[in-house]
Amino acid sequence: TIKVEHLKEKLISQAQEVSRLRSELGGTDLEKHRDLLMVENERLRQEMRRCEAELQELRAKPAGPCPGCEHSQESAQLRDKLSQLQLEMAESKGMLSELNLEVQQKTDRLAEVELRLKDCLAEKAQEEERLSRRLRDSHETIASLRAQSPPVKYVIKTVEVESSKTKQALSESQARNQHLQEQVAMQRQVLKEMEQQLQSSHQLTARLRAQIAMYESELERAHGQMLEEMQSLEEDKNRAIEEAFARAQVEMKAVHENLAGVRTNLLTLQPALRTLTNDYNGLKRQVRGFPLLLQEALRSVKAEIGQAIEEVNSNNQELLRKYRRELQLRKKCHNELVRLKGNIRVIARVRPVTKEDGEGPEATNAVTFDADDDSIIHLLHKGKPVSFELDKVFSPQASQQDVFQEVQALITSCIDGFNVCIFAYGQTGAGKTYTMEGTPENPGINQRALQLLFSEVQEKASDWEYTITVSAAEIYNEVLRDLLGKEPQEKLEIRLCPDGSGQLYVPGLTEFQVQSVDDINKVFEFGHTNRTTEFTNLNEHSSRSHALLIVTVRGMDCSTGLRTTGKLNLVDLAGSERVGKSGAEGSRLREAQHINKSLSALGDVIAALRSRQGHVPFRNSKLTYLLQDSLSGDSKTLMVVQVSPVEKNTSETLYSLKFAERVRSVELGPGLRRAELGSWSSQEHLEWEPACQTPQPSARAHSAPSSGTSSRPGSIRRKLQPSA
Ligand code: ADP
Ligand code: MG
Repeated sequence: TIKVEHLKEKLISQAQEVSRLRSELGGTDLEKHRDLLMVENERLRQEMRRCEAELQELRAKPAGPCPGCEHSQESAQLRDKLSQLQLEMAESKGMLSELNLEVQQKTDRLAEVELRLKDCLAEKAQEEERLSRRLRDSHETIASLRAQSPPVKYVIKTVEVESSKTKQALSESQARNQHLQEQVAMQRQVLKEMEQQLQSSHQLTARLRAQIAMYESELERAHGQMLEEMQSLEEDKNRAIEEAFARAQVEMKAVHENLAGVRTNLLTLQPALRTLTNDYNGLKRQVRGFPLLLQEALRSVKAEIGQAIEEVNSNNQELLRKYRRELQLRKKCHNELVRLKGNIRVIARVRPVTKEDGEGPEATNAVTFDADDDSIIHLLHKGKPVSFELDKVFSPQASQQDVFQEVQALITSCIDGFNVCIFAYGQTGAGKTYTMEGTPENPGINQRALQLLFSEVQEKASDWEYTITVSAAEIYNEVLRDLLGKEPQEKLEIRLCPDGSGQLYVPGLTEFQVQSVDDINKVFEFGHTNRTTEFTNLNEHSSRSHALLIVTVRGMDCSTGLRTTGKLNLVDLAGSERVGKSGAEGSRLREAQHINKSLSALGDVIAALRSRQGHVPFRNSKLTYLLQDSLSGDSKTLMVVQVSPVEKNTSETLYSLKFAERVRSVELGPGLRRAELGSWSSQEHLEWEPACQTPQPSARAHSAPSSGTSSRPGSIRRKLQPSA
């Protein structure tokens, strides 16, 4: 019984314990905590929403007065931080919900455990009841047995007899007791297990609590951080706003000041505007009256102009009259000038030093000029300076055009009926051919002269009819050859005109009529080809022969029938160098003798002409004989003495310059005045003929009478003159 009592007590205490545990584990605490957390969560959410709304509002506000300033950058940074924090918060929320879920799971498990505990307890109660019933039964049995105890002494036997039954009952009850005890042990075992379970659930709860506390603190911290961030954001925002406001105020102030300035400006401008408006109105009135004014002005100007034109017209008339008079005067003056200059002029042209001159002391320059006087030339010969005075000296810098300028007047006088001779004199290589022929790019006197004649003739074409013909000949070893003929080898003779006029002509000398530069070029080319095919070494040959270009200009005045003939003789003389007495023999010596003879004859003729001697030795050479009528009378002669400037040629240069000076400084003889007067009757060469008659062969021409009558050059002439 004591044992049973003890068991009962234990059962009760256990039940108490269970109930305590239940009350303790009832989950109410956890639930409460969860609720609290949920409430807290809700509050945080609300706060977050509020913050977001605020942020939205801030964003919606127009950007500060200074977009792109550091504050907007800062606020962007802060916004970024905020979004980061929001992200963190969302994470924390996720964690919280996870924790909530775990708590829920734990609560569920706890409820399960409780249910199982309840079942166990119910089972235990049933068992207890069953046991207590059995205990009562046993007590009753014992009591009934005790009540039967007096007859036991004597009935001992019986009892003993019957005790087998009792014994059996006892053993049965003992067995039952045993069974009960086992059951109690079992129960105890169960209880122990449950206690253990309780223990573990306690531990779990404690762990969970700790976790919850941790999360709470975490949450608290996050919240605090968020609050701090928000605070700083708020501060930044306020600061930015304040700064922007301050700046705006400063700007406003400046704008106000500007405005004030503009206002004062406006005030000062107003009077100016008023005067401008007045001016404008005045101008408007003037413009309205302008057309009338203009018309009036135009009328008066027109009248003035008309008057002026009339005046000019009468002036012009007067001027024209004066001009004509001047023209006549000019002609007179020109003749006088030519007379003063002399009919024979000598100029020198010094060529530049060329590559052909070589190098070294032999090729150094020996010729100098006078800066103030262009008629002086200085030569340093064998260390001795010698000076010469000529009509003009051309330095190496002089161009073909410069030289031509000097001879231009001579050439145009051809059109007026004068005969002209231009000679190029000098040693071989001194530039004779360059001056007369020139190069294709830079032509010399020949081509320029013909070009000038063409243009002059063109100008007079309204009143005069001109024909220009060209012949080319050479004199080599005192033999005259036609360079334009079909048979250049044929010797030509110089004859007296059969008309008894005493004039000379060359029967068979080809004459080409030329009208353009093209024609001249063809003629030159033809002559050149003739010469090249005839002579193997043209250079040497040409340096030992005289080349003549004879241009004849025949004119007729259409209204009066007046005829003129002028002849231009352009002569590239043979080289004037003297051949050493030794060394030269045979043909070379003969050549040299011929050249010498003809050049000295030329010198003699010119000297005789200049000194107005009665006898001029024209017949001493073919050249002077051929040019007789171009050298005598009022003909004009120009001698271009070509000079090489280099040291090695000074002997020849000296000789050439001496020749030039001799030709030039010929003293005028005693018969001067008579002869001079006679030579200046410029009308002498003009012949009067009835207009539009067939031209007669010019009495003064020495060549085959007139163009068209020569039979030999027919084929070539046809080529050059398709119209003839
Ligand atoms: P010439 O006919 O007297 O023998 P050239 O006329 O053949 O001499 O001249 C000899 C060389 O000198 C040629 O090559 C020529 O081109 C050149 N020459 C002559 N005079 C001049 C000049 N004024 N300017 C340039 N080169 C010249
Ligand atoms: Mg030459």
